[in-house]
Amino acid sequence: MLRSLEVTAVLSELEKVHRDRLFWKPTIQLNLDCFVCERVGRTNTLERGAERAICWSGRDEQHFAAARIAAFDVTNQDDRLALRIVVDFWWAPFKDAKRGTDATPLSNWVRLHYGNYCPLQETSSESSIQTNVRRPTSVYCEGCKTEIGVDAEVPSIRLLV
Ligand SMILES: [Zn+2]
Ligand SMILES: [Zn+2]
Repeated sequence: MLRSLEVTAVLSELEKVHRDRLFWKPTIQLNLDCFVCERVGRTNTLERGAERAICWSGRDEQHFAAARIAAFDVTNQDDRLALRIVVDFWWAPFKDAKRGTDATPLSNWVRLHYGNYCPLQETSSESSIQTNVRRPTSVYCEGCKTEIGVDAEVPSIRLLV
């Protein structure tokens, strides 16, 4: 059945000079239970605009997965850069092929990438935030090596349908 997850994230306390040059990149990684390879908690790579995702089913194995980014809404307001993503994916019940655990349409981990252009050094860099790291943590500009914001909130993931 078709299911939808909503992912939201924010970078806050953004410094003025860099604020408008910070942006979310179109590729994300999201943990999903995959009925194709029958494993729970597989890392899926999704790209905005792509009609299918890639499930990294093993160390060197991958396959296409029926998941896509249905909405990608960026809000750049005051000193915050927020992101709301809706992921549509096909989910069917199964038991994990190795551990026997029941699959769910939930996800407990996401990684989101952002890019930064330094107006002082005129260089570009990129980095990412993800679910399971210690917070709050500083966001640095790799160009001028200054702190330009804070990653203070764990990205939220919730099942819509
Ligand atoms: Zn898979
Ligand atoms: Zn900079």
